[in-house]
Amino acid sequence: MDRVDAVIVGAGVVGLAIGAEIARSDREIYILEKETSYGQATSSRNSEVIHAGIYYPKGSLKAELCVEANPMIYEICLEHRIPHKRLGKIIVANGEAEVKQLEEILKNAGECGARDLELIDADDVHELEPNVKADAAILSPTTGIIDAHGLMDHYHNEARRKSGADPLALDTEVTGLRKTGDGYEVEMVSGGEQFSVEARVVINSAGLHADSVAAMAGIDVDEAGYRIHWCKGDYFSLTGKPPASMLVYPPPPKDAASLGIHTVPDLTGRLKFGPNAYYVDEIGYGVESSSDEFWRDIVNYLPTIRKEDLHPDMSGIRAKLQGPGDPVRDFVITHEEDRGYPGLINLVGIESPGLTSAPTIAEMVGKWVDELL
Ligand SMILES: Cc1cc2nc3c(=O)[nH]c(=O)nc-3n(C[C@H](O)[C@H](O)[C@H](O)COP(=O)(O)OP(=O)(O)OC[C@H]3O[C@@H](n4cnc5c(N)ncnc54)[C@H](O)[C@@H]3O)c2cc1C
Repeated sequence: MDRVDAVIVGAGVVGLAIGAEIARSDREIYILEKETSYGQATSSRNSEVIHAGIYYPKGSLKAELCVEANPMIYEICLEHRIPHKRLGKIIVANGEAEVKQLEEILKNAGECGARDLELIDADDVHELEPNVKADAAILSPTTGIIDAHGLMDHYHNEARRKSGADPLALDTEVTGLRKTGDGYEVEMVSGGEQFSVEARVVINSAGLHADSVAAMAGIDVDEAGYRIHWCKGDYFSLTGKPPASMLVYPPPPKDAASLGIHTVPDLTGRLKFGPNAYYVDEIGYGVESSSDEFWRDIVNYLPTIRKEDLHPDMSGIRAKLQGPGDPVRDFVITHEEDRGYPGLINLVGIESPGLTSAPTIAEMVGKWVDELL
């Protein structure tokens, strides 16, 4: 059996960022991806927003990794010419209750270290975005948008350059993980054929299937709290001229499953709205929501939008650790030494802001890999 230093399971933005971080000419690593190209799952089905780290609980990995990653993402984009725009974002409030909610969000964001936030009034909002109706807003100038595929291409290139060979194996599904004396036997089906390699370190960044991959190693996912609940979000595109150029968000809904249906400008100047949030039992990317539901939410802050201009567009699925009605859960990013699995690193529940946080997640995992190899 071939013996390699590390195997990364899953080539989404997180697996690729880790690959770029840990690749070295004197290390043999594989990034194994079951699809025939990388980034086909959640990493290409999201809002492509560079978040500032506003909403997450103080002290959580989501808050810390996102706040630290925000300026890093802009630096990576500038240095490697990855398309992006620092559009800025407003979280708008209408009515007393929402204004109060904004104040709480602002306080939390300040405690988390989110940068340059400001509470602005109705006149300021009108000056920035004349079509937006709001009594007040939080202005976040460091929020922006990024070409997620451009970022993944960059990480793939970096992993190749630093390895001196392409560590990525496509059409390669990991089907088993077995602990050996000094690592793990990784079973896979590649191009229809079965193979095994022995890896000293295994990094599970399998997104929607990270719980199944953790279970392959022998971890009881329910006992560990690793069971993933798939939570889908649909998007509707808008025909006609976009009514706003910034990212415009309502205050987040109380169910804490999403940030609320917001504007999703893309780098070509088109505008979508989304994503909503509903739990599903199967992975399927058809838009299941009605334009009615979207329109009712949108007109609260963009009253000129017409329902007939909204069209089903795309959807994505969040790898959530919290089930319906459960309290918010943090990312799980852990070296499983204490559970009896040294050399196994699990990344479970990497929902938003996982795209933004890819560089800091990769740094965190890279430090463990350096200690292990
Ligand atoms: C609707 C929505 C909107 C979002 N908006 C944002 C946003 O604006 N900003 C932001 O920062 N984050 C956002 N996110 C979150 C972000 O998209 C994710 O955190 C990020 O893409 C997760 O990347 P990943 O690499 O962990 O997972 P994925 O991209 O899902 O990659 C996992 C990979 O593992 C592969 N895989 C699975 N099982 C196996 C196996 N057994 N063997 C081999 N390969 C396997 C899959 O095929 C897949 O390619 C959003 C998410 C959703 C769903």
